[in-house]
Parts: sequence; structure tokens; C-alpha cells
Amino acid sequence: MALFSAGSPGKRLQSMPPDDLVEKAIWQLEVCNACRYCEGYCAVFPAMERRQRLTEPDVYYLANLCHDCRPCYYACMYAPPHEFAVNIPQTFSEVRRRTYSRYALPGGFTGLTGTNFRLLAMVAALSLLFFGAVVALTSDPAGIFSVHDGPGAFEEVIPYAAMFLPAVLMALYAVVAIVIGVVRFWGETRGPLRDLFDLRALVGAGADALTVRFMQGGEDNGCYYPGEGASKSRWLLHLLVFWGFIFAFIATSIAFVYQDILGTPAPYPILSLPVMFGSVGGIGMIVGATGLVYLKWRSDPAPSDQVSAAMDYSFLAVLDLAAITGMLLLGLRGTPAMGSLLIIHLAMVFALFVTAPYGKLAHFVYRYLALVQNRIEARQQP
Ligand code: SF4
Ligand code: SF4
Repeated sequence: MALFSAGSPGKRLQSMPPDDLVEKAIWQLEVCNACRYCEGYCAVFPAMERRQRLTEPDVYYLANLCHDCRPCYYACMYAPPHEFAVNIPQTFSEVRRRTYSRYALPGGFTGLTGTNFRLLAMVAALSLLFFGAVVALTSDPAGIFSVHDGPGAFEEVIPYAAMFLPAVLMALYAVVAIVIGVVRFWGETRGPLRDLFDLRALVGAGADALTVRFMQGGEDNGCYYPGEGASKSRWLLHLLVFWGFIFAFIATSIAFVYQDILGTPAPYPILSLPVMFGSVGGIGMIVGATGLVYLKWRSDPAPSDQVSAAMDYSFLAVLDLAAITGMLLLGLRGTPAMGSLLIIHLAMVFALFVTAPYGKLAHFVYRYLALVQNRIEARQQP
């Protein structure tokens, strides 16, 4: 195969792909830059073509701009078993996984991102122990299996302060760690933080993120999931998870106002705003997360990174469990199952919060930053 001739700028591409992840990504992208067959598929290839020379920060930026939709793998004449072994979706999945550990703090935790399942399981187990201990120390443990009804029923199982204070601390911790990740990622991949305050780019990237625009494929026909053939199913399921999460967040925020500002304790009636938002969000997350697990299980392993896939499974499983226990809590709150469901639900939500800066949930932040940068670059392009 004679893609690059001796003496051309691409001469070094005649050697085999390097082992180092970033060098391997740059090597593959240089093949793409010479080929350019996939430039209509997504924002990644035009962004790559805007660069005369690719650097390590460029690789982190481009990998987070990638939505893993995979047509570039199935169309590629240099994909395995070709000796060039170009596999952009798989390489970018590995780079994204490294992004979460590279930019997250504290550094001591970052090694755990590769084993996100263990981190999630450990935090969920510790949270279960914590709430179990709270119940044992503050009330009669047998009360977990009793019927509690009316306003303040949850607090009869777990004191409000034991739910509220750890939740606030964990949320603050997650927000601080994510903000530090934002500053570090932007500083390295783009430059001065002031560039981030570009209203047009922020709004445009917001629209890209809210519609998951780049998961719809180059010709608006969807992702190549679960196999070689375009489908909108992954895009739709991802939208359900994303908007379900936003609705659940809105429900929690309204509940906070009811409880702490208006002085009305939970649980709330079925036709109240927290329950209606929470129910729509919970159903969206259950359908979306369960569907994404199924799609992933059926998907072609060749363009995927198996460690990233394990991270995705564990995140989706905990998200699904948090939503399922939330909906069960709503349906069974007048029964003896309420106490144990409340404890399990809180433990799952805590596991999501604590691992947010280091796990799959963080992809939203880095992808949004990459979308902002893409908007700025596309606008500045002559
Ligand atoms: S993925 Fe393959 S076909 Fe697509 S631009 Fe790169 S080298 Fe060319
Ligand atoms: S997987 Fe999709 S988003 Fe990623 S580089 Fe390929 S075509 Fe672009």
C-alpha cells in the first residue's frame, strides 16, 4: 500500500503504529488527514484538518469532540486487518478515559477511573453502610420495615440532617472537582480562560449538547450501533437519559425549595411539581439507561475499548438503579418497603455524586468544552 511516498511529509507513517496512546492517536489522525474520506461524518475531521500539526492537547480535544458514532470505522479502508489498524472510535474511547483521570482531582483517586466499576461499587457499599449506621444510631432499626405515612415520613427513617448535609457536601465536592477539571482542560486544550466566556459559542455548543447533534451522523441517519448500519436508537436513548437526568435534577431542586424554604417536608403528592418532574425524569432514565445497556451488549466490540465499555456499563447500571429505586420509592412509599428503598436510593445517588468527576458522568463536561471550542474555531475559520 502506498498512501505515503518516501520523502513526503507523511513518510514516517510507513512505519507501524506506535504503542503509546497519544502517539498512536496522532499517528492515526495523520493517516486521516491525508485520506480525508470521513470529513463529512462529524465535527472531528474538520477540526483535525484545521490543525497543521497535532499535539497532545489536540488529541484530548478531538477525542472529547468524538461521539463514538462509528461510521468512520466501518468506512475505513485502513481499519484492521489493514496493517495501519486505524480505529478512531476505539482510540478516542481510550483517550477520553484518560481525560477523566488526567484532569480530575485529587490525583490519588485518578487510578480508580480505569476500574470505575470497583469505585462505584465501593462508594455505593460505603453509602449503604453509612445510612444503615445512621438509622441504627438515631432510631429503632426495626422502623426501617414499618409503615410511615404523610409529611415527614422519610425523616422518621433517616433524620433530615443526615440526608441533607452529606448530600450538600458531596455535591459541593463534585462541583469543585469538576470546575478544577474544566479550568485545567480548557487551559491545556484551548488557552486563556477568558476565551471560554464566548456567549455565541456557549449557546451554540449548548444547542449541540441538548440535541446531541453529533450523534445523529453525518447524513442525519444516526450512529452505527449496534452493528454496521445506521440507526437513531442510540441517539434517542441518549436523549432520554440526558433529559431524564435534567428533569430529576429540577425535581430535586424544587423539593429543596419546598422543604427548606417553604417548610413543607417530603413526601409530596403525586400531582406536585417535584413528583411530576421526578417521575418523567425517572422513567426517561430507566428506559434510556436500560436501552443503552442493551445496545452496548449487542454492539460490535471491534471499534470499542473494553475498559471504557466496562465504565459505561457500571455508570448506566448505577444510574438505572438510582432511577428504579426512586420510582419504587414513589410507588411503595406507603408500604413497609419504603425504609429500605430510601436507603438504597440514597446510596445509589451518593455513588453517582462521589464518582461524578472521575467517571462516565464527567464526559458531559469535557464534551461540552470541546463543543464550545469547536464552535469558536468553526466561526474563526476563514
Ligand atoms: S478513518 Fe479511515 S477512511 Fe476515515 S479519514 Fe481516517 S483513514 Fe480515512
Ligand atoms: S466515531 Fe463518529 S464522532 Fe467519532 S470520529 Fe468517528 S465519525 Fe466522528
